[in-house]
Amino acid sequence: MIKDFLSTYGLRDAAHTKLEGYGSVNYKLSHGENDYVLKYYSDLEELSLIESENNVLRHLSSFPDLNTPKVMAELMPTDIGFVRLLSYVKGSLLKKEHLTSLFLSSLGRCIATLHLKLADLNEPIIAARISSWDLNYTHTNASKTEYVKDPTQRKLVAHFLDRFSAYVLPQTHSLRSQIIHGDLNENNLLVNDKGELNGIIDFGDICYGPIINEIAIACTYVAMLAPENFLSNITHIIAGYHSISALQRKEISLIYDLIAARLCTSVLHSAESKGLNGATEYILQNEAPAWHLMEIWSYTSPVLVKNHFLNALGCEVKEVSSKSSIERRKKVASPSLSLSYSTPIHMESSLFQYMFDDKGNRYLDAYNNIPHVGHCHPHVIEAISKQVRKLNTNTRYLYSIYTDYSDHLLSYFPSRLNKLLLVNSGSAASDLAIRMARVATGRTHIAVLDHGYHGNTMLAIEASAYKFDGKGGSGAASHIIKLPLPNTFNSFYSDGKSYADEAITLLREEISQGNTPALFIAEPVSGCGGQVPLAPGYLEHMLPFLQEHGILFASDEVQTGFGRLGSHFWGFQLHNVEPDIVILGKPIGNGHPMGGVVTSDQLTHKFANGMEFFSSFGGNPVSCAAGKAVLEVLEREHLQANALNVGGYWKDALLALQRKFDVMADVRGYGIFLGVEFLDHDNSPLTQLAGTVKNKLKENFILSSTDGPYDHVLKMKPPLCFSKANADEFVSVLERILMQLI
Ligand code: PMP
Repeated sequence: MIKDFLSTYGLRDAAHTKLEGYGSVNYKLSHGENDYVLKYYSDLEELSLIESENNVLRHLSSFPDLNTPKVMAELMPTDIGFVRLLSYVKGSLLKKEHLTSLFLSSLGRCIATLHLKLADLNEPIIAARISSWDLNYTHTNASKTEYVKDPTQRKLVAHFLDRFSAYVLPQTHSLRSQIIHGDLNENNLLVNDKGELNGIIDFGDICYGPIINEIAIACTYVAMLAPENFLSNITHIIAGYHSISALQRKEISLIYDLIAARLCTSVLHSAESKGLNGATEYILQNEAPAWHLMEIWSYTSPVLVKNHFLNALGCEVKEVSSKSSIERRKKVASPSLSLSYSTPIHMESSLFQYMFDDKGNRYLDAYNNIPHVGHCHPHVIEAISKQVRKLNTNTRYLYSIYTDYSDHLLSYFPSRLNKLLLVNSGSAASDLAIRMARVATGRTHIAVLDHGYHGNTMLAIEASAYKFDGKGGSGAASHIIKLPLPNTFNSFYSDGKSYADEAITLLREEISQGNTPALFIAEPVSGCGGQVPLAPGYLEHMLPFLQEHGILFASDEVQTGFGRLGSHFWGFQLHNVEPDIVILGKPIGNGHPMGGVVTSDQLTHKFANGMEFFSSFGGNPVSCAAGKAVLEVLEREHLQANALNVGGYWKDALLALQRKFDVMADVRGYGIFLGVEFLDHDNSPLTQLAGTVKNKLKENFILSSTDGPYDHVLKMKPPLCFSKANADEFVSVLERILMQLI
């Protein structure tokens, strides 16, 4: 009987208060000067583990320099379940205000002392324990992801679980391991009136695991208490530990991922408890801080964290000089291969809308449109890696991912465009589009827009005024008909119809000479032309003429497709026309090398003249898996809506800035495909200023580029997960730069 149990210890009339807890039911009993903790257990399977935990506590009680609960009574059966009595360790729970450097280094030292005392202890039941809270088993929590409803939070967890499996798990067995406390959170670290660590309680998560896991767990909770100072606070803990017991380089290198692993464990348990309606305030107390820290973690460079700790502990940090990287590259690369920025960046890793260099700097990526759904998106990574493990072959075999993906992608097109041909790049897609048009029409001429770019193959270069009229180019080939870019800003015509009339006159002349083109190829918004949207009405007026003369129209959606423009999924929809061919590239595989041509039944039949179309890699199962994953993320994360929302907000902020700086002559674009044209008072292009702005943005850790006929247009086309906060950062830095320059 519980009453008899309490009487044995003179506690029958002790005052009692309930204490919060995760696994057991706990009471604080107070009797005279002495306080105790009474714990109830109903799960009999745990009893042997609790016996082992008691053994550990008894062992620790023999060291006066460590204040841990003392075992006052063995585990006993009573009428209300098994009970256990421990001494009550005094102190207040760890709070933000306790986090001084002195406290944190003493915490580190205390953890080291605890580990030294537990180092030789052998408790087979603890060693055999499997717990979802044990960092070694972080990956076993992946199934709980279904309870995380927010897609952005899901991708964060998926990313860090993936890193855990890739970088931590393979090392787990080579890390120094022993019995550890397993849960040094703010509720288990007690502080005295002087703000010193007074004791460690609650050994309920005790496990056998790497000592670095323990340190990482303590660091996680300290970082959650004060995320603004996480790096220096954590460093104090690690340095404190290191001063008593040296940490290994390998261990230090894992701290970034172990902290993330603990955050995943925490948020996934919270999500599961909520999903199963078992959540309490106590269980959810760290939910919001854990998500907050995980977000910070996602834009914190792993290299920065690692190097910071290594430096603090006096370990060597190897740095590769950018000069030597450039020299090495020069030795092997063609001189025609360029590098961005006056001082190029050596990239180390990237995530979502951020890129990280080898020195630990984080760059806000306002430029790269290939990682359309975000750099290293975990869903795309998973799809690729699952498929590449299973089957990677070519289109001469049947495999369902090919048709699944084709069906999915084609569902985004008007019903007439019902055929997909897959290749490996935008260039190959442009090339194929031209070839198809030539075969289908029996003509060789191609009509193109001034400043357009369609790729790097011979055919695509011939169709790209940006190249044949640019440096090293030799002008338009005789079968190329170049039409003016219908630009309404600062130009001859201010409407699409006038440009279309001019183009039609030029085409009529060519037709009269027997040069009717097979194809007219254009981007709906000219990227290399300097983010120039084709004048409204231009394509609408052109199409009837083209159709009348059997000239096919290809919309190059390599830059504009897949929802980037916000209001429409494809650029041609913006112009209210239906092309005969759509050229796809860049975002289609989020960086996996893919390209595609979408066209009609009719055209593919004309193309099928007996010559086989085969691409060794085009349409392979891995590419299809990547492409399908991209569409799934776009849908799941509502990225087209984000492009509309954030893009509109960003453009408005740029337009507001334009009122302050005359040199920002035009701010244009749709969705997250924007440009700022820099012109002087006399309308001359400010090429140098645009270049300086680009380089200064980079010095401020923001990536952008310049383009246009005079390289005077600042170009923004980031991953679609770009946020309003990112847009704010971009605009405020741009404002600062322009204030300095003008
Ligand atoms: N078309 C357009 C509009 C492009 O911007 C590009 C690449 N910049 C291409 C085609 C060629 O794509 P890729 O580089 O994948 O061959």
